[in-house]
Amino acid sequence: MKITAVHVETLELQMEEPFVIASSALAVSPCDLVRVETDEGLVGFGEACPAYEFTGDTLWTVQDVIGEYLGPAVIGKDPFQLEAIVHCWERKLWTVGNQAACAALEMALWDLQGKALGRPLCDLVGGRTRDGLVEVIAWGWDEPEALAGKTRRMRAEGITVFKIKVGDRPERDEQRVAAVREAAGPDAHLTVDANQGWLDARTAVRAIKLLEPYRIELAEQPVRMDDLEAARFVRSHVDVPIALDETVRGPREALAAAKAGACDIFVVKLMKTGGILGALKVNAIAEAAGISVMMGNMGESSLGLAAHFQLGVALANATHCDADLPSRPGGYARDIGSGLCTELRDGVSTVIVPRAPGLGIALDEDAIAAQRVTRRW
Ligand SMILES: [Mg+2]
Repeated sequence: MKITAVHVETLELQMEEPFVIASSALAVSPCDLVRVETDEGLVGFGEACPAYEFTGDTLWTVQDVIGEYLGPAVIGKDPFQLEAIVHCWERKLWTVGNQAACAALEMALWDLQGKALGRPLCDLVGGRTRDGLVEVIAWGWDEPEALAGKTRRMRAEGITVFKIKVGDRPERDEQRVAAVREAAGPDAHLTVDANQGWLDARTAVRAIKLLEPYRIELAEQPVRMDDLEAARFVRSHVDVPIALDETVRGPREALAAAKAGACDIFVVKLMKTGGILGALKVNAIAEAAGISVMMGNMGESSLGLAAHFQLGVALANATHCDADLPSRPGGYARDIGSGLCTELRDGVSTVIVPRAPGLGIALDEDAIAAQRVTRRW
């Protein structure tokens, strides 16, 4: 099988409501959709969800980098030559940054491999170690009363895990977490993500100690991404496991964080690792260091989420997964794909990861056309 064409288009997905966290506020979410055609008629799909404040990528840099560099380099190649293709990107094209562009194109090649073999992506990276993923709802910065109301509604629909964005003033964070705990009930699972918002180690320790009585199960990115010593300090002064997200972009940062004893959990996102091969390397470092992995996401549509969830069911070391769906509150008004669904298992809403070949997602071309954008400035 030979790759014959690579297409990339840019979309702005409309959010149902703005999603506010410590480092950004989103009313629309940019994404780049990649299609890779082959001489056998198979088409692979990939998605970039660039987040400038995380990786420096924008939807236009993704389009340019794929259109001018990465795309031409894969024409004529076999999608199964993945290691050689990625090695060429890293060592011949010298892709500095641009992980989102690499991730989107690499995702499309995995999708092609799965479609060619008639197997879901998870079967290409070890096979299923779990059958589904417990659905998670993420709450941005909002009024405590509003969070409580939304939490009650979602709890009634079988949601048992709530991720609360914090990193505001610690007392304000406590009000939000208290409201969610009260509404969710004692048996719900709560995690928090500060997105670097507490900035320094002492503030982070004070904030986490305020939140500990509400039985949070992990605290994500309490301090600035480039301050491993601060993360290590926080971890040694609180009882809650520390997850690092912004800090751990690829294997190098993962190794440094592991050596520093800075965290208990790595948050793995394809837009940071530059794709699934990079994610597998981060997971290998994690396993060797006794660190577990949380599969996160950057708020992709169903297409990009499916790639994360396929890894989430395959990696035994992925003890957590932000399995949130675009169809839920805070998601997209109009998703661009279908194939992810939920079912209630013993009253717990569980995301069923597709068993169809590749990513297992069918695209909605009308939704894509309606949200396509052209360059402007
Ligand atoms: Mg995070």
